[in-house]
Amino acid sequence: MQKYVLISALFLFFHSIAFTENAKAWRGGWASYWKDTAEQIKLAKKLGFNGLIFNLKKPEKIEEICDLAEKENIEIYAWYTIISNKENKELSQVMSDAENKRLEIIKSDKSPGRNRYQSGGEPFNKEGDVLLNELLCFHRPEVLALCKKQLEEILQKYPRLAGIGFDYFGYRNYKCCNCPVSEKMFNEYYEKLHKDNKDISREKALEKFSLDTLTAFVNELAAYVRKIKPGCKTAIHIYPTFIPEPVYGNRLDVDYCMQTAAWYFEPFWGLDKVDRYTKIIVNDANRYFKRQSGIPFVGIYMRPGISKPPERFREELKTIRKTGTQSFSICPFNIFLEHPELAKILLEELGVPK
Ligand SMILES: [Zn+2]
Repeated sequence: MQKYVLISALFLFFHSIAFTENAKAWRGGWASYWKDTAEQIKLAKKLGFNGLIFNLKKPEKIEEICDLAEKENIEIYAWYTIISNKENKELSQVMSDAENKRLEIIKSDKSPGRNRYQSGGEPFNKEGDVLLNELLCFHRPEVLALCKKQLEEILQKYPRLAGIGFDYFGYRNYKCCNCPVSEKMFNEYYEKLHKDNKDISREKALEKFSLDTLTAFVNELAAYVRKIKPGCKTAIHIYPTFIPEPVYGNRLDVDYCMQTAAWYFEPFWGLDKVDRYTKIIVNDANRYFKRQSGIPFVGIYMRPGISKPPERFREELKTIRKTGTQSFSICPFNIFLEHPELAKILLEELGVPK
Protein backbone atom coordinates (compact mmCIF):
# COMPACT_ATOMS: atom_id res chain seq x y z
CA MET A 1 0.00 0.00 0.00
CA GLN A 2 2.75 2.41 1.02
CA LYS A 3 4.66 1.58 -2.13
CA TYR A 4 1.59 2.33 -4.19
CA VAL A 5 1.13 5.70 -2.49
CA LEU A 6 4.79 6.55 -3.12
CA ILE A 7 4.59 5.60 -6.79
CA SER A 8 1.39 7.61 -7.21
CA ALA A 9 2.98 10.62 -5.53
CA LEU A 10 6.03 10.37 -7.78
CA PHE A 11 3.82 10.04 -10.84
CA LEU A 12 1.82 13.12 -9.89
CA PHE A 13 5.01 15.04 -9.18
CA PHE A 14 6.59 14.29 -12.57
CA HIS A 15 3.25 14.66 -14.31
CA SER A 16 2.88 18.18 -12.91
CA ILE A 17 6.46 19.10 -13.86
CA ALA A 18 5.91 17.81 -17.39
CA PHE A 19 2.76 19.88 -17.74
CA THR A 20 4.38 23.02 -16.39
CA GLU A 21 7.38 22.74 -18.69
CA ASN A 22 5.50 21.67 -21.79
CA ALA A 23 2.57 24.04 -21.60
CA LYS A 24 3.26 26.90 -23.98
CA ALA A 25 3.19 30.23 -22.21
CA TRP A 26 0.38 32.61 -23.19
CA ARG A 27 -0.28 36.17 -22.10
CA GLY A 28 -3.64 37.92 -22.28
CA GLY A 29 -4.35 41.55 -21.46
CA TRP A 30 -7.76 43.07 -20.77
CA ALA A 31 -7.26 46.34 -22.60
CA SER A 32 -9.16 49.58 -23.09
CA TYR A 33 -8.75 52.06 -25.95
CA TRP A 34 -5.56 54.09 -25.76
CA LYS A 35 -4.83 57.40 -27.47
CA ASP A 36 -1.97 55.88 -29.46
CA THR A 37 -2.91 52.37 -30.57
CA ALA A 38 0.49 51.78 -32.23
CA GLU A 39 2.24 52.50 -28.92
CA GLN A 40 -0.16 50.16 -27.10
CA ILE A 41 0.38 47.24 -29.49
CA LYS A 42 4.13 47.80 -29.53
CA LEU A 43 4.25 47.56 -25.75
CA ALA A 44 2.07 44.43 -25.76
CA LYS A 45 4.58 42.81 -28.10
CA LYS A 46 7.53 43.88 -26.00
CA LEU A 47 5.90 42.41 -22.88
CA GLY A 48 5.21 39.07 -24.57
CA PHE A 49 1.44 39.38 -24.88
CA ASN A 50 -0.27 37.01 -27.36
CA GLY A 51 -3.80 38.33 -26.97
CA LEU A 52 -5.60 41.56 -26.10
CA ILE A 53 -9.28 41.74 -25.22
CA PHE A 54 -11.23 44.91 -26.12
CA ASN A 55 -14.84 45.95 -25.70
CA LEU A 56 -16.61 46.79 -28.95
CA LYS A 57 -17.83 50.23 -27.93
CA LYS A 58 -15.76 51.92 -30.65
CA PRO A 59 -16.29 49.73 -33.72
CA GLU A 60 -14.31 52.16 -35.90
CA LYS A 61 -11.18 51.52 -33.80
CA ILE A 62 -11.32 47.74 -34.09
CA GLU A 63 -10.10 47.70 -37.69
CA GLU A 64 -7.07 49.81 -36.80
CA ILE A 65 -6.31 47.65 -33.76
CA CYS A 66 -6.57 44.45 -35.84
CA ASP A 67 -4.25 45.91 -38.52
CA LEU A 68 -1.53 46.82 -36.05
CA ALA A 69 -1.92 43.66 -33.98
CA GLU A 70 -1.72 41.39 -37.01
CA LYS A 71 1.73 42.75 -37.85
CA GLU A 72 2.95 41.85 -34.36
CA ASN A 73 1.25 38.46 -34.32
CA ILE A 74 -1.07 39.49 -31.48
CA GLU A 75 -4.63 38.19 -31.43
CA ILE A 76 -7.59 40.46 -30.71
CA TYR A 77 -10.61 39.25 -28.75
CA ALA A 78 -14.04 40.78 -28.20
CA TRP A 79 -14.95 41.35 -24.55
CA TYR A 80 -18.28 39.67 -23.93
CA THR A 81 -20.30 39.71 -20.68
CA ILE A 82 -23.75 38.88 -19.31
CA ILE A 83 -24.14 42.24 -17.54
CA SER A 84 -27.81 43.24 -17.83
CA ASN A 85 -28.95 46.39 -19.59
CA LYS A 86 -32.16 48.43 -19.78
CA GLU A 87 -33.64 46.20 -22.48
CA ASN A 88 -33.13 42.87 -20.75
CA LYS A 89 -33.32 43.86 -17.08
CA GLU A 90 -36.29 41.54 -16.47
CA LEU A 91 -34.04 38.55 -17.20
CA SER A 92 -31.61 39.48 -14.41
CA GLN A 93 -30.56 37.24 -11.54
CA VAL A 94 -32.43 37.64 -8.25
CA MET A 95 -30.82 37.83 -4.79
CA SER A 96 -32.25 37.29 -1.29
CA ASP A 97 -33.53 40.24 0.78
CA ALA A 98 -30.44 40.07 2.99
CA GLU A 99 -28.17 40.23 -0.07
CA ASN A 100 -30.08 43.19 -1.46
CA LYS A 101 -29.67 44.98 1.87
CA ARG A 102 -25.94 44.27 1.73
CA LEU A 103 -25.87 45.67 -1.81
CA GLU A 104 -27.39 48.95 -0.60
CA ILE A 105 -24.79 49.25 2.16
CA ILE A 106 -21.91 48.63 -0.29
CA LYS A 107 -23.39 51.10 -2.80
CA SER A 108 -23.77 53.86 -0.22
CA ASP A 109 -20.20 53.43 1.07
CA LYS A 110 -18.27 56.20 -0.65
CA SER A 111 -15.00 55.71 1.25
CA PRO A 112 -11.91 54.81 -0.81
CA GLY A 113 -11.64 51.05 -0.88
CA ARG A 114 -15.26 50.78 0.38
CA ASN A 115 -14.32 49.11 3.66
CA ARG A 116 -12.49 46.20 2.04
CA TYR A 117 -15.19 45.45 -0.51
CA GLN A 118 -13.59 42.96 -2.93
CA SER A 119 -15.71 43.86 -5.96
CA GLY A 120 -16.31 40.39 -7.37
CA GLY A 121 -13.27 38.77 -5.78
CA GLU A 122 -13.42 36.40 -2.79
CA PRO A 123 -15.21 38.38 -0.03
CA PHE A 124 -13.22 39.43 3.00
CA ASN A 125 -15.84 40.95 5.29
CA LYS A 126 -17.87 38.51 7.37
CA GLU A 127 -21.08 40.14 6.12
CA GLY A 128 -20.16 38.94 2.62
CA ASP A 129 -20.11 40.82 -0.67
CA VAL A 130 -22.31 40.97 -3.71
CA LEU A 131 -21.52 42.30 -7.18
CA LEU A 132 -22.63 45.86 -8.00
CA ASN A 133 -23.46 44.94 -11.62
CA GLU A 134 -26.70 43.21 -12.44
CA LEU A 135 -26.15 39.94 -14.33
CA LEU A 136 -28.49 37.98 -16.56
CA CYS A 137 -29.84 34.67 -15.25
CA PHE A 138 -28.37 32.04 -17.53
CA HIS A 139 -30.83 29.41 -16.28
CA ARG A 140 -33.41 31.11 -18.48
CA PRO A 141 -33.64 29.80 -22.04
CA GLU A 142 -34.17 33.37 -23.30
CA VAL A 143 -30.70 34.32 -22.03
CA LEU A 144 -29.00 31.43 -23.80
CA ALA A 145 -30.80 32.38 -27.03
CA LEU A 146 -29.87 36.06 -26.58
CA CYS A 147 -26.18 35.28 -26.00
CA LYS A 148 -26.01 33.02 -29.05
CA LYS A 149 -27.60 35.71 -31.20
CA GLN A 150 -25.21 38.39 -29.93
CA LEU A 151 -22.13 36.18 -30.37
CA GLU A 152 -23.15 35.30 -33.90
CA GLU A 153 -23.58 39.00 -34.71
CA ILE A 154 -20.15 39.86 -33.27
CA LEU A 155 -18.42 37.14 -35.28
CA GLN A 156 -20.15 38.21 -38.47
CA LYS A 157 -19.52 41.92 -37.98
CA TYR A 158 -15.84 41.52 -36.99
CA PRO A 159 -14.39 38.70 -39.09
CA ARG A 160 -10.82 39.67 -38.16
CA LEU A 161 -11.22 38.96 -34.44
CA ALA A 162 -9.36 35.88 -33.23
CA GLY A 163 -11.94 35.09 -30.61
CA ILE A 164 -14.24 35.94 -27.73
CA GLY A 165 -13.07 36.96 -24.25
CA PHE A 166 -15.80 35.99 -21.77
CA ASP A 167 -16.07 37.96 -18.53
CA TYR A 168 -18.64 38.39 -15.72
CA PHE A 169 -19.94 34.85 -16.14
CA GLY A 170 -21.11 33.93 -12.66
CA TYR A 171 -23.57 34.69 -9.88
CA ARG A 172 -24.16 38.16 -8.51
CA ASN A 173 -24.16 36.77 -4.95
CA TYR A 174 -21.26 34.39 -5.87
CA LYS A 175 -23.42 31.34 -5.08
CA CYS A 176 -26.73 30.96 -6.89
CA CYS A 177 -29.72 32.71 -8.40
CA ASN A 178 -33.01 32.98 -6.49
CA CYS A 179 -35.34 33.77 -9.38
CA PRO A 180 -38.40 31.49 -9.86
CA VAL A 181 -36.89 29.86 -12.97
CA SER A 182 -33.66 28.94 -11.16
CA GLU A 183 -35.52 27.74 -8.07
CA LYS A 184 -37.80 25.47 -10.07
CA MET A 185 -34.84 24.10 -12.01
CA PHE A 186 -32.95 23.45 -8.77
CA ASN A 187 -35.89 21.67 -7.11
CA GLU A 188 -36.07 19.24 -10.02
CA TYR A 189 -32.30 18.76 -9.93
CA TYR A 190 -32.33 18.12 -6.17
CA GLU A 191 -35.16 15.59 -6.39
CA LYS A 192 -33.24 13.62 -8.99
CA LEU A 193 -29.93 13.84 -7.15
CA HIS A 194 -31.54 12.87 -3.86
CA LYS A 195 -32.88 9.62 -5.34
CA ASP A 196 -29.32 8.35 -5.87
CA ASN A 197 -27.73 10.01 -2.88
CA LYS A 198 -29.96 10.22 0.19
CA ASP A 199 -27.21 11.85 2.27
CA ILE A 200 -26.70 14.93 0.15
CA SER A 201 -27.88 18.10 1.85
CA ARG A 202 -29.92 20.73 0.06
CA GLU A 203 -27.08 23.19 0.57
CA LYS A 204 -24.46 20.90 -1.03
CA ALA A 205 -26.84 20.08 -3.87
CA LEU A 206 -27.36 23.79 -4.54
CA GLU A 207 -23.59 24.33 -4.79
CA LYS A 208 -23.32 21.47 -7.24
CA PHE A 209 -26.31 22.67 -9.24
CA SER A 210 -24.98 26.23 -9.43
CA LEU A 211 -21.53 25.12 -10.59
CA ASP A 212 -22.84 22.48 -13.03
CA THR A 213 -25.20 24.93 -14.72
CA LEU A 214 -22.65 27.76 -14.83
CA THR A 215 -19.95 25.63 -16.44
CA ALA A 216 -22.46 23.99 -18.82
CA PHE A 217 -23.59 27.46 -19.94
CA VAL A 218 -20.07 28.70 -20.69
CA ASN A 219 -19.20 25.43 -22.43
CA GLU A 220 -22.30 25.62 -24.58
CA LEU A 221 -21.47 29.17 -25.67
CA ALA A 222 -17.82 28.30 -26.34
CA ALA A 223 -18.90 25.34 -28.49
CA TYR A 224 -21.40 27.57 -30.27
CA VAL A 225 -18.69 30.11 -31.08
CA ARG A 226 -16.57 27.32 -32.63
CA LYS A 227 -19.58 26.05 -34.56
CA ILE A 228 -20.32 29.50 -36.04
CA LYS A 229 -16.67 30.14 -36.81
CA PRO A 230 -14.47 27.04 -36.85
CA GLY A 231 -11.08 27.71 -35.28
CA CYS A 232 -12.36 30.72 -33.33
CA LYS A 233 -10.58 31.05 -29.97
CA THR A 234 -12.27 31.30 -26.59
CA ALA A 235 -10.85 32.95 -23.50
CA ILE A 236 -12.35 33.72 -20.11
CA HIS A 237 -11.57 35.40 -16.83
CA ILE A 238 -13.17 33.50 -13.96
CA TYR A 239 -15.12 36.40 -12.45
CA PRO A 240 -17.05 37.05 -10.27
CA THR A 241 -15.84 34.45 -7.80
CA PHE A 242 -17.81 31.31 -6.98
CA ILE A 243 -17.53 30.91 -3.22
CA PRO A 244 -17.98 27.11 -2.89
CA GLU A 245 -15.15 26.48 -5.40
CA PRO A 246 -13.25 29.60 -6.49
CA VAL A 247 -10.70 27.91 -8.80
CA TYR A 248 -13.19 25.92 -10.89
CA GLY A 249 -11.99 27.14 -14.31
CA ASN A 250 -10.54 23.82 -15.47
CA ARG A 251 -14.13 22.63 -15.96
CA LEU A 252 -14.38 24.93 -18.96
CA ASP A 253 -13.70 23.82 -22.51
CA VAL A 254 -12.02 27.06 -23.57
CA ASP A 255 -8.59 27.81 -25.03
CA TYR A 256 -7.34 30.23 -22.40
CA CYS A 257 -8.70 30.16 -18.88
CA MET A 258 -7.53 33.15 -16.86
CA GLN A 259 -8.02 32.50 -13.16
CA THR A 260 -7.10 34.88 -10.38
CA ALA A 261 -3.79 34.11 -8.67
CA ALA A 262 -3.57 37.49 -6.89
CA TRP A 263 -6.46 39.93 -6.39
CA TYR A 264 -6.49 43.74 -6.51
CA PHE A 265 -7.44 44.86 -3.03
CA GLU A 266 -6.24 44.81 0.52
CA PRO A 267 -5.80 42.58 2.35
CA PHE A 268 -3.55 41.22 -0.41
CA TRP A 269 -3.54 37.46 -0.70
CA GLY A 270 -0.83 35.58 1.16
CA LEU A 271 1.98 34.44 -1.13
CA ASP A 272 1.26 30.86 -0.06
CA LYS A 273 -2.22 31.29 -1.52
CA VAL A 274 -0.79 32.84 -4.73
CA ASP A 275 1.47 29.79 -5.01
CA ARG A 276 -1.30 27.28 -4.28
CA TYR A 277 -3.75 28.86 -6.73
CA THR A 278 -1.16 29.23 -9.52
CA LYS A 279 -0.29 25.53 -9.26
CA ILE A 280 -3.94 24.56 -9.62
CA ILE A 281 -4.51 27.04 -12.47
CA VAL A 282 -1.50 25.87 -14.48
CA ASN A 283 -1.02 22.21 -13.58
CA ASP A 284 -4.68 21.14 -13.44
CA ALA A 285 -5.76 23.00 -16.58
CA ASN A 286 -6.21 19.75 -18.53
CA ARG A 287 -8.02 17.74 -15.90
CA TYR A 288 -11.22 17.81 -17.94
CA PHE A 289 -10.39 19.32 -21.31
CA LYS A 290 -7.34 19.01 -23.54
CA ARG A 291 -7.93 22.33 -25.21
CA GLN A 292 -7.30 24.51 -22.17
CA SER A 293 -4.22 26.48 -21.13
CA GLY A 294 -4.39 27.72 -17.54
CA ILE A 295 -3.33 31.34 -17.19
CA PRO A 296 -2.66 33.04 -13.82
CA PHE A 297 -4.38 36.43 -13.60
CA VAL A 298 -3.13 39.31 -11.45
CA GLY A 299 -5.25 42.34 -10.62
CA ILE A 300 -3.62 45.69 -9.90
CA TYR A 301 -4.86 49.26 -9.61
CA MET A 302 -2.85 52.37 -8.96
CA ARG A 303 -5.61 54.67 -7.76
CA PRO A 304 -6.00 56.51 -4.46
CA GLY A 305 -7.39 54.13 -1.85
CA ILE A 306 -7.10 51.00 -4.02
CA SER A 307 -3.43 50.88 -4.99
CA LYS A 308 -1.19 47.85 -4.93
CA PRO A 309 2.43 48.79 -4.20
CA PRO A 310 4.77 47.91 -7.11
CA GLU A 311 6.98 45.87 -4.76
CA ARG A 312 3.98 43.80 -3.81
CA PHE A 313 3.23 43.21 -7.52
CA ARG A 314 6.83 42.02 -7.87
CA GLU A 315 6.46 39.50 -5.02
CA GLU A 316 3.32 38.09 -6.63
CA LEU A 317 5.03 37.67 -10.01
CA LYS A 318 8.05 36.07 -8.36
CA THR A 319 5.76 33.55 -6.68
CA ILE A 320 3.99 32.79 -9.96
CA ARG A 321 7.29 32.33 -11.82
CA LYS A 322 8.54 29.91 -9.16
CA THR A 323 5.84 27.44 -10.15
CA GLY A 324 7.49 27.21 -13.60
CA THR A 325 4.98 29.13 -15.70
CA GLN A 326 5.56 32.26 -17.76
CA SER A 327 1.88 32.62 -18.62
CA PHE A 328 0.15 35.70 -17.32
CA SER A 329 -2.97 37.84 -17.56
CA ILE A 330 -3.78 41.29 -16.25
CA CYS A 331 -6.57 43.83 -16.08
CA PRO A 332 -6.19 46.67 -16.92
CA PHE A 333 -3.47 46.03 -19.51
CA ASN A 334 -3.15 49.82 -19.97
CA ILE A 335 -1.62 50.10 -16.50
CA PHE A 336 1.67 49.23 -18.22
CA LEU A 337 1.31 52.32 -20.44
CA GLU A 338 0.44 54.54 -17.50
CA HIS A 339 3.06 53.05 -15.15
CA PRO A 340 6.18 51.94 -17.05
CA GLU A 341 7.74 50.86 -13.73
CA LEU A 342 5.23 47.99 -13.63
CA ALA A 343 6.13 46.90 -17.17
CA LYS A 344 9.74 46.78 -16.07
CA ILE A 345 8.84 44.57 -13.10
CA LEU A 346 6.89 42.21 -15.37
CA LEU A 347 9.91 41.76 -17.64
CA GLU A 348 12.30 41.34 -14.73
CA GLU A 349 10.20 38.72 -12.97
CA LEU A 350 8.46 36.78 -15.75
CA GLY A 351 10.69 37.55 -18.74
CA VAL A 352 9.40 37.08 -22.27
CA PRO A 353 8.49 33.52 -23.26
CA LYS A 354 10.50 32.17 -26.18
ZN1 LIG B 1 -32.36 32.84 -12.08
